[in-house]
Amino acid sequence: MSIDTRAALNAQDTHIYDMLGVRPFINAAGTYTRLGGSRMPPVVVEAMVEASRHFVEIDELQARAGARLAELTRNEAAYVTCGAAAGLLVATAACLAGNDPARARQLPDLTGMRSDIVMYHSHRNPYDYAVRTLPIRLIEVGFPNEVIPPTPWELEHALTDQTAAVIYVEARWTARGALPLDEVVAIAHRRDIPVIVDAAAQLPPRENLWRLTQAGADLVIFSGGKDLRGPQSSGLIVGRRDLVDACFLIGAPHHGICRPLKAGKEEIVGLVAAVERYMAQDEEARLLWTERFVDRAIEQLSGPGVEVRRCFPNEAGQPIPRALVTFMGDDAGRRRDHVIHLLQAGRPSVEVAPAGLDGLYVNPMTVDTYEEDPLFDRLCAAMAGSRA
Ligand SMILES: *Cc1c(COP(=O)(O)O)cnc(C)c1O
Repeated sequence: MSIDTRAALNAQDTHIYDMLGVRPFINAAGTYTRLGGSRMPPVVVEAMVEASRHFVEIDELQARAGARLAELTRNEAAYVTCGAAAGLLVATAACLAGNDPARARQLPDLTGMRSDIVMYHSHRNPYDYAVRTLPIRLIEVGFPNEVIPPTPWELEHALTDQTAAVIYVEARWTARGALPLDEVVAIAHRRDIPVIVDAAAQLPPRENLWRLTQAGADLVIFSGGKDLRGPQSSGLIVGRRDLVDACFLIGAPHHGICRPLKAGKEEIVGLVAAVERYMAQDEEARLLWTERFVDRAIEQLSGPGVEVRRCFPNEAGQPIPRALVTFMGDDAGRRRDHVIHLLQAGRPSVEVAPAGLDGLYVNPMTVDTYEEDPLFDRLCAAMAGSRA
């Protein structure tokens, strides 16, 4: 979303996708992997290109990149993996094997190791396949959306001598029914059990890069391919020195269960460049731009049978506003579907996020400044088209 003339100049160039017969689009939906995640700014692409020109030792690069990432994110240590989902698997494996190379090699055989992973039932989600890939026993605590607030004893009871880690999901879309992170940390740490936090989409704000570890989480995982705008196949693990060392030991290029989760030199360098940029960017100016974008949506997209309002925070809990467009009347659902179809079918093609049966979100998060005008032209035309 930065004003980036190079990106603007190159934006018309869709040759590579045209050649394959693939439809590029303006993404006003969000950082969804199935829609391409996010786009790397030129500083990130250039860092990757430079990295691609040389051979280096991956262990040395991981160590140096980790040190720089730790410094930037105010953490003890950091490690680069090939996505946040991969990070969940690496972090879990690291908690199982610890810093013992023999145990790291022994996985997925858990003989002699703690093999329980504890997680709130309300936190279960499709990304936990990454954890269940290991032959662990997943112990669920509590019930989602329980009316009675969760009590400490449920978690205390679930933690035993067999518990290797607690996995905590930090996201606004999880059900209620989990204790706050600091209470979970306090209970787990009383038994020396590490807490892994899946915070894949918890950026912005950038202080989450250190807030969650400062709240006591032992390992915190972020996606490199969402708002950080690093390589799509990158993920960041930050946290306790000894556990990050265990990630390093069990991760590629070292052989073992995490060898398939390789981050190449280009991804490692690209993620460092992305985090450097993220720390330097003007978060305040960006927020103002997104607020203005949503004001414009309210002004230009409201009309007969259509209500537009500001939603804050967004679905992941990020402090970025979105515009919720709600269609009213008997044929609301049909009109909504028609608008989405018109947006996809026109040029430039546009993707928005459906909301329920009769609404859609227009999200500024993945829109660059040079796309704003063409996007609003398309939105206004599609809204008019659906009334016709
Ligand atoms: C996006 C997301 C992931 C996966 O991130 P990738 O970098 O795409 O692997 C994992 N957990 C949560 C909560 C997410 O939102």
